[in-house]
Amino acid sequence: MQKFYVLGTCAGISDKGFTLSGVLQHNDKCLLVDTGGGMQILKQLRLSGINVSTIHDVFISHKHIDHLLGLIPFIRKILSLIRLGEYAGSLNIYCDKEIKEIVDYIIKATFHDLFQELYINRISYHLVQEGQIYDVIGYKMEVMDIHSFASVQFGFKLLLENDKKLFYLGDMPCAEQNYKKIKNADWVLHEAFWTSEKNKYSKIEARKHHSNVDDVCKNMNDLNVKNLILWHTLDDNIETRKQRFLAEGKEYFAGNLYVPDDLDVIDLD
Ligand SMILES: [Zn+2]
Repeated sequence: MQKFYVLGTCAGISDKGFTLSGVLQHNDKCLLVDTGGGMQILKQLRLSGINVSTIHDVFISHKHIDHLLGLIPFIRKILSLIRLGEYAGSLNIYCDKEIKEIVDYIIKATFHDLFQELYINRISYHLVQEGQIYDVIGYKMEVMDIHSFASVQFGFKLLLENDKKLFYLGDMPCAEQNYKKIKNADWVLHEAFWTSEKNKYSKIEARKHHSNVDDVCKNMNDLNVKNLILWHTLDDNIETRKQRFLAEGKEYFAGNLYVPDDLDVIDLD
């Protein structure tokens, strides 16, 4: 059983949807992929029916608030479960070293003394670099440098059952340096901020940092990607987002295109 639970699909400081977060589930194991912007992570997990005690692995792509800040309440929840005897073992966090420093600081400054020792003993950091391989939820996970302009940023390749490949490309248009890896991918999780309507976001400068739907779909089609999931969007007109993004994307992408809403579940089998 392989599933992708979409917890949040929005970007930046959205107030209409939750910011970027999802859970990859393999049988009874879960990998949390980014944590959105705050406390709502816990609500999204509950609404998705995911038992927090089954999550022992978290990947954080970069330090921006819409990806990172949900980690603080998530860790707090884990530490509470440990105190109640409802969480076995450790929580593994895969991230850049600067993220550990930021989280260490916030926790030291804001968590009750009761939790400080548990945080040190039961939260285990894995400071990632390009090409490192980890065993995570029964898969091989290979870390990829996303070549971000904005901050140090990582994504990953996950080797699913039957040698299928899933890529998480973080918060950037896919860098040319990674095209060779992505070619013939079975699944790609890619940001797509806007459709190509003429607006302030369609300017070339902005498109270095985030994608238009048509650009992503052309690129991923050229790379023969089979299943493409677009998320990390502006929350403008979120009610019609799925319909508009799919209509534009399908003109350029021949594989299966997904534009999930928060709390959708995608079957990866
Ligand atoms: Zn973001």
